[in-house]
Amino acid sequence: MECFYDHFPMEKKVYQGRSFYWCPHCAFLRKEQILSPKEQKNRYDYHQVDENYLKYMNRIVQKIRPLLVGKKILDFGCGKLPALANLLKQEGYETFYYDLFYFPKKIQEQMDTIVMIEVFEHLEDPWETLKTCIGQLNSHGKILIKTQPYEKDNLDSWWYLRDDTHLNFVLPSTLRQWCSQLGLDFHQADEDIFVLSRIS
Ligand SMILES: [Zn+2]
Repeated sequence: MECFYDHFPMEKKVYQGRSFYWCPHCAFLRKEQILSPKEQKNRYDYHQVDENYLKYMNRIVQKIRPLLVGKKILDFGCGKLPALANLLKQEGYETFYYDLFYFPKKIQEQMDTIVMIEVFEHLEDPWETLKTCIGQLNSHGKILIKTQPYEKDNLDSWWYLRDDTHLNFVLPSTLRQWCSQLGLDFHQADEDIFVLSRIS
């Protein structure tokens, strides 16, 4: 398998009895086994959208609000319920949402900020998805990505690898490298929050 980003031949790795591919150039780590779309949707159908979930999304909104630019916000990969879009709408943002399984109608408008909360690790082709999102950003727009980066020495025990719907794993430096190729500014706002900004 070649890395989506740089087409480097990836090395085979095994962690926790599962097979992965790892790019020696950008350190992108990809799970070999992918569930079918139907199996993926079955897993997502089990996700609870309850009081606790809404509390959790509320905390996320507090965290990311200072990072948002502009008024038009896309909740990309919102899942069953566009909770983030709803919360931000209440605060006066003009919000949109998209989800491959639950709200698959593509949003055509240009956005100021595209937010991906725990989405990147699930994407079939994260490099293509990022490129598509960049094409949808207004000038000086941002993409916010919340995903847990891996650490080089935690792969034999890290719970994140065990979720069958998690496919993509990065180091902060992986995203930094991808951004320089995409002509985006990169900064890490928190342990698991990454900001990709259009320079012009
Ligand atoms: Zn790579």
